[in-house]
Amino acid sequence: MHTDLAPLLDAELAKNWRQPRCATLAKLYDAQRREAQRDEARLAIWCVSALYVLFAAADAVLINDVIRSAILVRVMIGLTYGFGIGIQIRKGVRSSLIELQCALGVVLGYAAWLTLTSLSEHTSNALLYTSYGTVFMMVANLFYNLRFRVALVTSGSITVIFFIAAAFVFDAGHHFLVATGSLYLLSFVLTLFINWKLNLERYRVFLNSLSAEIRQRQARERGDQLLKLSTTDALTGLANRRATDDFLQELWREWKSSSTPFAVILIDIDYFKMYNDFYGHQKGDSCLVTVAHAMGSVVARHHGKIGRFGGEEFIVILKAKSPDEVMQIAEEIRLKVQDLQIEHEARSDHISILTVSVGAAFSADVEGNKAERLVTNADRALYLAKDSNRNCVKMFDQRLSADSETTGNIKELLRSAIADNRVSLVYQPIWDVKSGNMIAAEALMRLTAANGSPISPAIFVPVAERTGAIVELGDWAIREACKELLRCDAIPAISVNVSVVQLSKPGFGEHVADLLLEKGVSASRLIIEITEGSEIDENSAVLDAIRDLSELGVRVWLDDFGTGFAGLSCLSKIRFDTVKIDRLFVQASDTRRGAKLLGDMMTLVANSGHKCILEGVETGDQVDRLKQHGARFLQGYYFNRPMSGEALNLLARKGAKLATNPLAA
Ligand code: C2E
Ligand code: CA
Ligand code: CA
Repeated sequence: MHTDLAPLLDAELAKNWRQPRCATLAKLYDAQRREAQRDEARLAIWCVSALYVLFAAADAVLINDVIRSAILVRVMIGLTYGFGIGIQIRKGVRSSLIELQCALGVVLGYAAWLTLTSLSEHTSNALLYTSYGTVFMMVANLFYNLRFRVALVTSGSITVIFFIAAAFVFDAGHHFLVATGSLYLLSFVLTLFINWKLNLERYRVFLNSLSAEIRQRQARERGDQLLKLSTTDALTGLANRRATDDFLQELWREWKSSSTPFAVILIDIDYFKMYNDFYGHQKGDSCLVTVAHAMGSVVARHHGKIGRFGGEEFIVILKAKSPDEVMQIAEEIRLKVQDLQIEHEARSDHISILTVSVGAAFSADVEGNKAERLVTNADRALYLAKDSNRNCVKMFDQRLSADSETTGNIKELLRSAIADNRVSLVYQPIWDVKSGNMIAAEALMRLTAANGSPISPAIFVPVAERTGAIVELGDWAIREACKELLRCDAIPAISVNVSVVQLSKPGFGEHVADLLLEKGVSASRLIIEITEGSEIDENSAVLDAIRDLSELGVRVWLDDFGTGFAGLSCLSKIRFDTVKIDRLFVQASDTRRGAKLLGDMMTLVANSGHKCILEGVETGDQVDRLKQHGARFLQGYYFNRPMSGEALNLLARKGAKLATNPLAA
């Protein structure tokens, strides 16, 4: 209701005193003034009463012949006035009534004073007292917060009483009447004028403070809305990735400090791409919303937080006491979606309703010191669930993980992956949006399981690193990339991801030099990507390798910048050709805070003398925003998905320019 007052307030504040007050605001002011008056009156009444009684001291000097009656009258009036009104205030009597009584009390107090004085034999002294009416006027106009009209009547009555008393009771001479009478008239005008000014000022203070209060509330509401926007997924209304990340970190800290266990559950809608293709995007969207809300109701019962993690993937974070409890909640979520009985005729298995696969991980099963590890574990469990014909729940188990069926299988797979032709490379171009040219393509490794399904590098790379298979695989990747470069001169360069395990093998630089020589590929066309999170700046073998590569003319890029702790020290200690800011920051740049953070990171990278690539660009909006931030080199699904070597060849041979890419137009 208050917010609607803003325009009224602005208009009212612009008015001058001659213009009538707005009725709505005047009513509000009156209500507020009455409240304030009630509070102030309590103290004021007792002050006035006390002064009135204390004046008996002056009576003792000036009119001592009536001192007994004077004391009696003063005490009686003082006490009646103080208690009478005090009790009414406490009882909550209407403040307009209190105000009238205060005013009446002042007039009666003065009348009683004059009556007392008139009884004295010391007429000349008594006459001196008559001028005290002006003090009563001040009390009425300045001491009490009286309304102008009430003050006018009060002061008027006091003046009239004075004239009547001076002329008829005291029979004062006309000199006295003129002198004291003009003092009265002067006080009458002056005190009323001040009363009027004070009331006007109080009204303006009220208007200003109300207006400030409304503005503050509006700012707070806008802030709340912004916060909601920046932490909410627009489609489902669930928390977005940033918000769930914050919550994850919060529970992780709690787990570290007080061992309060919690779980991460990842949920993926089975065959959702087929659903979208078959039923259309609109139905796909509404299906996401329905599923999100159904799962949300289960999660709310367990006091957890659910968020949208990506396209058709959801994340649940909640406190739980044991893996069994987590399994139970995860199963509840799966059943809830199944019970929705959403038709899905297009899926490639025998089921014809929508289902989800669920992977869960428990905080107690995490090695190392990173909350993200828990998400990776849940992701592995989710992968297991999908691999077990979907529509089921799998839990990550640390004790089994090292030798779990999957890891065991992957280990086995990796051992002979190259010989069995199970590994391949796909390529994702990196574009210069200023010139429209492709500046390089990133080589990404793919592994195929025995049943033909692809295994994500997020799963097999860590296993390969643990077993050491990464050295051979990485070596193979560099050779393959060189072959691709030889096959097509139009590909400007290829960047290969190299694991720290591989990089810290002594003589890595020389090894690359040998490979380049063997294949006859120019060093300037090979780029090595190193991930930031691996404390490279403290590893002397890695530092040697980076130096050797740079001397060779092979560019070294720092990958996933912003995800590890090494960030800053890395940039100051090692000279990279280019820094790739992690895609998390590009995705978070959809919000104002995220955009600011990304802008700051880009400035940081530029200030340390490095070029900058932004990866994971998925939408045209992101491209526009990144360009506004001065970004030049971009990579992501918006431009191209990772593609086969042949497709890259074709793209490069056509002299691909961004302008010819309809998506990027
Ligand atoms: P990365 O080096 O950060 O690679 C980029 C990853 O982002 C790739 O995932 C790529 O497919 C994905 N990507 C590209 N554009 C977008 C986008 O617009 N949105 C989203 N959401 N993702 C995008 P991929 O191929 O699954 O690789 C995952 C990680 O596995 C890589 O992250 C890299 O760290 C590692 N990896 C891949 N190939 C190799 C390799 O040959 N050797 C080593 N040591 N690690 C590799
Ligand atoms: Ca990379
Ligand atoms: Ca990366």
